[in-house]
Amino acid sequence: PHPSDPPYLQGLNGPQRQAVLTTEGPVLMLAGAGTGKTAALTARLAHIIATRRAWPSEILAVTFTNKAAREMRERIGRMIGDAVEGMPWLGTFHSIAAKMLRRHAELVGLQSNFTILDTDDQLRVLKQLIQAEGLDEKRWPARQLAGLIDRWKNRGLTPPDLDAADREAYADGKGQHFYALYQARLKTLNACDFGDLLLHMLVILKTHRDVLEQYQQRFKYILVDEYQDTNASQYLWLRLLAQARKNICCVGDDDQSIYSWRGAEVANILRFEKDFPGATVIRLEQNYRSTPQILAAASALIAQNSGRLGKTLWTDLEAGDKVRVVGVWDGPEEARRIGEELEDLQRRGTSLDRAAILVRAQFQTREFEDRFIAIGLPYRIVGGYRFYERAEIRDALAYLRLVQSSADDLAFERIVNVPKRGLGDKAVSRIHQFARIERTPLFHAAARITETDELTPQARRQLANFVAMMRTWQAKANDLPHPELTQLILDESGYTAMLQADRSAEAAGRLENLSELVRAMEEYDSLEAFLEHVSLVMDRDNDDQTETVTIMTIHAAKGLEFDHVFLAGWEDGVFPSQRAMDEGGTASLEEERRLAYVAITRARQRASIYHAANRRIYGQWMSSIPSRFIAEIPPEFVDSENSFGGGASLWRANWSAQGDPFAHVATQSPARTATRGPAWQRALAASSTITRAPAPSEGAPAASVGAKPRADLAIG
Ligand code: ATP
Ligand code: MG
Repeated sequence: PHPSDPPYLQGLNGPQRQAVLTTEGPVLMLAGAGTGKTAALTARLAHIIATRRAWPSEILAVTFTNKAAREMRERIGRMIGDAVEGMPWLGTFHSIAAKMLRRHAELVGLQSNFTILDTDDQLRVLKQLIQAEGLDEKRWPARQLAGLIDRWKNRGLTPPDLDAADREAYADGKGQHFYALYQARLKTLNACDFGDLLLHMLVILKTHRDVLEQYQQRFKYILVDEYQDTNASQYLWLRLLAQARKNICCVGDDDQSIYSWRGAEVANILRFEKDFPGATVIRLEQNYRSTPQILAAASALIAQNSGRLGKTLWTDLEAGDKVRVVGVWDGPEEARRIGEELEDLQRRGTSLDRAAILVRAQFQTREFEDRFIAIGLPYRIVGGYRFYERAEIRDALAYLRLVQSSADDLAFERIVNVPKRGLGDKAVSRIHQFARIERTPLFHAAARITETDELTPQARRQLANFVAMMRTWQAKANDLPHPELTQLILDESGYTAMLQADRSAEAAGRLENLSELVRAMEEYDSLEAFLEHVSLVMDRDNDDQTETVTIMTIHAAKGLEFDHVFLAGWEDGVFPSQRAMDEGGTASLEEERRLAYVAITRARQRASIYHAANRRIYGQWMSSIPSRFIAEIPPEFVDSENSFGGGASLWRANWSAQGDPFAHVATQSPARTATRGPAWQRALAASSTITRAPAPSEGAPAASVGAKPRADLAIG
C-alpha cells in the first residue's frame, strides 16, 4: 500500500490489489465468504474506468441481483466520483440480456417491444397448448413441462438441440414437440419467458457473426460476480463475448453454489481455466466480515461436504460471541422471541437495518409478518415476487401491458372481465374464435367483434366500452406521466371502485398495494422501463426511510452481510428441506449445507439459530427435531438455550431420544485433539479450514486443507 494510491486501492490487501491491477487477460478470483471478492471486483471496475482503459459503456459487469447492481454502481460513484456517468451494462444476466435482445429481437422473430412472461403466464400458455393437443393435463401437468423447458433453456438448448433422452422426458416422447409449440406460441404472442432472454441472445450471438463481433468489440472488459451460480447458457454467452479480448474476471466460491435447482453448474469454475488457458487464479484468504466464532462454525459445517475445492480462511477480528442456538416451543414463539430481541437491539441503539431474519422457505415469513405488524416493528420482505405477485398488482400490470402493446393476449385475457363487465366465458371464447379466424391479437378481435352481432347487445356494449377506454389510455400514454396514467386507468376502469365496494378485510390492503404500485412507478423514467423492471425484479425495491429489519430467504441473502443474523426454522424438514431429505442423495443435502454455510456467513457479529419443537406446515402441526446442521457445528462454538424449561441439557435429552445428533460430532470433531488456547482457536488449528491470523513472526497463515488439494486450481 502506498500513500499515493488512488482511493479505490487503499485498504486492499495484496491479492485484492492483484485482482484489481491485473486488468488484461482472464482472471479467476476464487475465495470463501466475506473475503472481499465483491469489494475487489468493484475496485477493479473503478480502476478500469479511472485509468481510462474503457468507458463505462464499454464494460460488461454482471451481478446476481438487481440490488447488488445498484450497490455496485453507488460504490463506484463514491470511489471515483462523477466519472461513472452511466453503466448501461451493469446488471443481472437477465436484465443485460433483455436489453440486448430488444435491439436484435427481429433476428429471432420478435418485435422489440416483446413482453416478458412471468411463471403464471408461462403456465397459462402451456396449459392451453396441452389442452389443444388433447392431452390430459392431470397426467401431464403443465408445471412439469414448464420445469423441463426451463432446464433446457438453462442448458442453452433450443428444441432441435435436444437429444433422445430429453425428448422422451414428457408425455411419452412429446417433450420436444411441446417445447417447439411453446416457442412458436410465444413468438405469436410477441413474448418470451425468463430463460428465453439468454437463450435467444445466445442463438443470435452464435448465428450472427456481425452481432457477436459488435459486442466483442464493445465489451473491452467483462466482470462477473457470484460466478459459481452461472448456468450453462450464461456460461456459453460469457465465453462467446469474452473470446476475442479475453479480459474477463470471474469471482466466486464453490461453497456458495446454491442455485443448482435453477440450472447453475459449479463446474463452470473448472471449465473457466480450460477455456481461458493461462488464467490468473487469485485466492483471497482473509475474512473481513465475521468473528472467529462465526467463521469457525460455518467452516466446520461446510467441511462436512465432499468434493470441495478447498480453501484457507483466517481472520484477525476480535473474538466475539459463540453462535447461539435457541430452542423454542413453536413457530409463533420463534417470531415472538426474535421480535423481542430486535426490540432489545433497538433499545440499545442498534439500527434495525443491521439485522436480518433469514429463512429457508418463503412460507416462513408469514409468522414474522403477523408478529411484527402486531408489535409495530418495521420490517420488509426482500426476495421472491411477493409484491408483484399479488392479484391486484398483476391486474394493474395487465392493464398497463395492454396499453403498451395491444397484442398482449395474456394481459387482455386477464383483465377483459376484471372488474366484471358481464363478459363471461362465452363472450371471451367468441373473441378467441374470432381472433383465430382473423389471425389477429385478441384486443383487435374484440374491437372487430363489436361491429358484428356475435355477442349479446349487452356484452357488445360493454366490450365496445372497454375497447374505447383502452384506446383512450393508449393515446394518453405518450403525454401523461405513467404514474398518473396508472391512477387514471385504475379509476376509469372501475377497478378502484370495485375494491372500495368490497367490504372484505383484504380490500383495504389491496388499495394500499395499488397506491404503492403508483408510488413505485415514479422511480422509473417510462412505462416501458417500469414494466421491464417488474419483469426482472428478484428483490422488491424499497426505499423506506425508516429503519427496518429485513426478512428474506437465504437464497436472496447471498452476497449480503448484517451485524445480527437470525436464522429461523432450523429443523429437519424445514432446513434441510423435506424435499432434499426425501431425495436422499448426498447432492441435494450438500446443496442444503452450502445454503447453511451462506446463511451463517452473512453474520458479522452475531448469529442466532432458532429451532422450534412444533411447526405448522401447510396448516398441519408437526413436531420437529433440530436440523442436523446444528449438530454438525462443533459444540465449542455454540451457546445453547431453550425457552421451554430446562437448559441445553433438557434440550439435548430431547435429542437423544431421537438418536443423539452430537454423537457424530463428538467422535469426529478435530477440536478434541487440540489442547491449547480458547476453544475456537484450538479447533481452528486442528480443523484447518480456518486459522487465526498469523503473528508477524509466523509468516504465512497455517496451511489449508480442503477436501481436495489446492493444486486443482493451480495456475497454468
Ligand atoms: P461473499 O462471498 O459473501 O459474497 P465477498 O467475498 O464478496 O463475500 P465482500 O462482501 O466483498 O466479500 O466483503 C466482506 C466485507 O469485508 C465487507 O464489509 C467489505 O467492506 C469488507 N472488506 C473487504 N475487503 C476489505 C479489506 N481489504 N479491508 C477491510 N475490509 C474489507
Ligand atoms: Mg460477494
